[in-house]
Amino acid sequence: MRIVVLAGGIGGARFLRGLKQAAPDADITVIGNTGDDIHLFGLKVCPDLDTVMYTLGGGINEEQGWGRSDETFHLKEELAAYGVGPEWFGLGDRDFATHIVRTQMITAGFPLSAVTEALCDRWKPGVRLLPMTDDRVETHVAVELDGERKAVHFQEYWVRLRASVPAEAVVPVGAEQSKPAPGVLEAIAEADVILFPPSNPVVSVGTILAVPGIREAIADAGVPVVGLSPIVGDAPVRGMADKVLAAVGVESTAAAVAEHYGSGLLDGWLVDTVDADAVTRVKAAGILCRAVPLMMTGPDATAQMAREALTLAEEAREA
Ligand code: GDP
Ligand code: CA
Repeated sequence: MRIVVLAGGIGGARFLRGLKQAAPDADITVIGNTGDDIHLFGLKVCPDLDTVMYTLGGGINEEQGWGRSDETFHLKEELAAYGVGPEWFGLGDRDFATHIVRTQMITAGFPLSAVTEALCDRWKPGVRLLPMTDDRVETHVAVELDGERKAVHFQEYWVRLRASVPAEAVVPVGAEQSKPAPGVLEAIAEADVILFPPSNPVVSVGTILAVPGIREAIADAGVPVVGLSPIVGDAPVRGMADKVLAAVGVESTAAAVAEHYGSGLLDGWLVDTVDADAVTRVKAAGILCRAVPLMMTGPDATAQMAREALTLAEEAREA
């Protein structure tokens, strides 16, 4: 079975670990969000690709959900001693190596997709990890700061400001001019199932869908597309997805997120058991829906979520 998954960082990566356990023989292609990418200290950092790579490759800091395990921060401290920031972005010594290798290869002329493949030669994530595009796309968030409207990089909004001010707009700058990375459209066309993990619907999955051609390819693939809600009990399980959902006029509920994707894209949607009330509303939008436990509390619970998603996909195929 060929499965394509559109993934952001933590939510995507943890779900993928469960999917691999649930479907060990599946051929999994991950289309990763690169709208969060940022240049720091002259280095290209791809937080979501790295979270997927480290999580599936066994190098993730488990408690944190991002960054390397067994990490130290000497380099960051030395930079700070020179007064060189930003100090708000946590890059550890081990993590730095990844960004140095990536930047060296990009400077040498390799596209991000080839660089990602090279990095994965070390980590062996057990999936094919593709960036959504080789082109530069950067998610910016419009906010009002000190009485002035300005656009900040997504990481500045999320990490430095901790989404403490309302997001007035979310713009994937450069998306309109970008092209899907090599292999992305082919993987979608050859997929048997397409899954949206419980990743952020706006700044993770939404950004991937903003690359021209990807949304259309998914809608036209003619195979079941099933998503899992990142919103449980009317709030994001982690992070501040409610802030960016508000920016696109979507309420922070499992049903509203399903409607936001719409029946043109989604065939099935899983909501958590605490949101069982949402099932009728999602079905009314023309999307198959079931309430099952959606908390990724451990490998087995997450694998069970993946099994439920694949089961719903089979029901969509027969419907
Ligand atoms: P990011 O790029 O690191 O923010 O990661 P993603 O976009 O892939 O995932 C973020 C989303 O994952 C957030 O909106 C969370 O609500 C969601 N999430 C995290 N843990 C869980 C969980 O255990 N269950 C569900 N249903 N969603 C989760
Ligand atoms: Ca992210």
